[in-house]
Amino acid sequence: MLPRKDLFELPEGVIYLDGNSLGPLPRGTRELVGKTVSEGWGGHLIRGWNDDNWMAQPVTLARGIERLIGAAPGSTVLGDTLSIKVHQALSASLSLRPDRRVILSDTGNFPSDLYMAEGLIAQLDRGHSLRLVAPDEVSNAIDQDVAVVMLTHVDYRSGRMHDLEAITRRAQKAGAVMLWDLAHSAGAVPLEIANSECEFAVGCTYKYINAGPGAPAFISVRPDLLERIDPALAGWLGHADPFAFEPEYRPASSIERFRVGTPAVLQMAALQGALAIWNKIDINDVRAACLRLSDLFIQQVESHIPELELVSPRAGSERGSQVSFSHPEGYAIIQALAAVDVIGDFRAPDILRFGITPLYLDDRDIIAAVDRLESIMRERAWDHETYKRRQRVT
Ligand SMILES: *Cc1c(COP(=O)(O)O)cnc(C)c1O
Repeated sequence: MLPRKDLFELPEGVIYLDGNSLGPLPRGTRELVGKTVSEGWGGHLIRGWNDDNWMAQPVTLARGIERLIGAAPGSTVLGDTLSIKVHQALSASLSLRPDRRVILSDTGNFPSDLYMAEGLIAQLDRGHSLRLVAPDEVSNAIDQDVAVVMLTHVDYRSGRMHDLEAITRRAQKAGAVMLWDLAHSAGAVPLEIANSECEFAVGCTYKYINAGPGAPAFISVRPDLLERIDPALAGWLGHADPFAFEPEYRPASSIERFRVGTPAVLQMAALQGALAIWNKIDINDVRAACLRLSDLFIQQVESHIPELELVSPRAGSERGSQVSFSHPEGYAIIQALAAVDVIGDFRAPDILRFGITPLYLDDRDIIAAVDRLESIMRERAWDHETYKRRQRVT
């Protein structure tokens, strides 16, 4: 039964509608990280790499991610940040289609993914180009020139969700590689990555998976491709035998070839705390509750605050786990709302974004959040200098 507020340490009185950006602290994580610091680092020192299995964790903890996204066992590894994993998957995709020159993506994709594509194109200097089309035109834009279709499954601004299965089939029919970014889907919606047969899936663990700020990213590679890819980022921990210290790179024969360097051990302890929760939760229950709470949220906002305009798809089946509205004063409204302990966030130019995360939200939270938002709008509480001053992170 959801919610499971008992599984999280949430500050008293706060209604947290930002789990799509940084998940809250799972109960038990504090102890796991503390133990890794004091007993592991403090007590075992360098012995921790073997005795505490630190060196194996990027693969062993990835098992929990595989279960969550329906990926094949042994297809996933943790490490680095998502931007790096996008780079790895994209360069591998291009090397699998040496005679094609187009990277296809959509105009709603997250900038870092697009910047990675631009940077890679410049570096390769082999005439590749980035073709950007509107999200609903992606399918029709997949032709024989496309080497790779690189999409983020759920749009970070609107929450609009692509049809993962259908687009993957379309890409593969046209001979293109399919690369999915699951940043806003992993831990939010049920996924069957192995069944979809997409070549690559990447994502982060600090959003819906709740592994904390700076938590490692993941990459999943279709098992039949593992040994066909020479990683562009050829780091020592992707080597077949890192501690042989050979002068020449020889990639590992497993998913470990997508490792680069030293894993973030303290962050892995936090991820372990997060995954312990996912062992107790069925993602299908999360999805069902999310759709119900999201519909309630939309209905409440539209009936009480008509000046906010829905940006997310109205149909739940076309939405991920967030609901967004637009308003020209969106930034100040989000700041004023945070001042009364309802935390959402803002994305330029005018989007108020609310993550609907049923692990720790219920109907009363949704109704109370809209109630406070309505007061802010009615009293123009947002119309104040302190709320309009842009901070570094919005
Ligand atoms: C959150 C997010 C990122 C962030 O990348 P990092 O390297 O982890 O900072 C990248 N791409 C998408 C689609 C995201 O939603």
